[in-house]
Amino acid sequence: GLPEVPVRPIAERRVSRRIQVGPVAVGGGAPVSVQSMTTTRTSDIGATLQQIAELTASGCQIVRVACPTQDDADALAVIAKKSQIPVIADIHFQPKYVFAAIEAGCAAVRVNPGNIKQFDDKVKEIAKAAKDHGTPIRIGVNAGSLDRRLLQKYGKATPEALAESALWEASLFEEHDFRDIKISVKHNDPVVMVEAYRQLAAQCDYPLHLGVTEAGPAFQGTIKSAVAFGALLSQGIGDTIRVSLSAPPVEEIKVGIQILQSLGLRERRLEIVSCPSCGRAQVDVYKLAEEVTAGLEGMEVPLRVAVMGCVVNGPGEAREADLGVASGNGKGQIFVKGEVVKTVPESKIVETLIEEAMRIAEQMEKDGASG
Ligand code: SF4
Repeated sequence: GLPEVPVRPIAERRVSRRIQVGPVAVGGGAPVSVQSMTTTRTSDIGATLQQIAELTASGCQIVRVACPTQDDADALAVIAKKSQIPVIADIHFQPKYVFAAIEAGCAAVRVNPGNIKQFDDKVKEIAKAAKDHGTPIRIGVNAGSLDRRLLQKYGKATPEALAESALWEASLFEEHDFRDIKISVKHNDPVVMVEAYRQLAAQCDYPLHLGVTEAGPAFQGTIKSAVAFGALLSQGIGDTIRVSLSAPPVEEIKVGIQILQSLGLRERRLEIVSCPSCGRAQVDVYKLAEEVTAGLEGMEVPLRVAVMGCVVNGPGEAREADLGVASGNGKGQIFVKGEVVKTVPESKIVETLIEEAMRIAEQMEKDGASG
């Protein structure tokens, strides 16, 4: 017979030092957090806060805002104060904006000290200001902006080059006894990216921010990020994640949360278990699954809902779920915790499922409150 395949659980989380991004702990065993970046002009305070509110509502825990101009830097204080979630200022070259962001009360700053090294003593001053304010720094190495020295040494952005670059950047702060740091080493190729993080993880204890850069439009970007984050998180590597999509930032959050839920790193709320449909289906499974998903969006309690196209595998799966439907003969058998509670005409399946889900959710909340 075939050899038995051992069941491998997700690896223990890598032991990393903990930093505080405002109220959100990153590293040191803290739950993996999900973050995104606004697409508005940061200087447009109203639009930026509006987008942050949308991100917050979708489950975003940390938000980053770009800060390429003085107007953006001037907006940081109000944004940091009014945002419901911690704000990270993303700065590339201008040390003065780093100081502005720290003074403005941003929860963290993303800056690569290698970019500002040419300014005498600026790294030292930043380390001091950040330490005085308790502001952590993210060092973000990107394949596209790799230090020229490393590009020459390695010929291109290899995993070794990315990891070495990040550790070198970190050392510029370590020289000033500053270690309140998290690191990312992003590449658009998940294979390179995964190896870069693995090497980096083995060589330091800084918390790691995972990202596949320029991952592409929603479909491709979702898959690239899911594969890369899945590979790393299943090895215990990664403390906070940002899915990059050429799509609205709320989509990045939805994908990020799904990735964590798929790996069991976050409790699932609504899970739709729907069949792929086949020649036996007696109902439009795609449409039904979509309508049920839409109808139940925003459920606050964990709920597994099975949507099955026929009565062959249908009842079995529907029984495993909290709630489910198996269709047949223009009707739907509605299951709750394994029992058929109702048989309804096809046109009533969606509304009946939603009604039952609400009832179960209410009951769960009641039980939760009393227990
Ligand atoms: Fe086909 Fe029925 Fe299985 Fe759906 S549940 S894939 S319709 S056999």
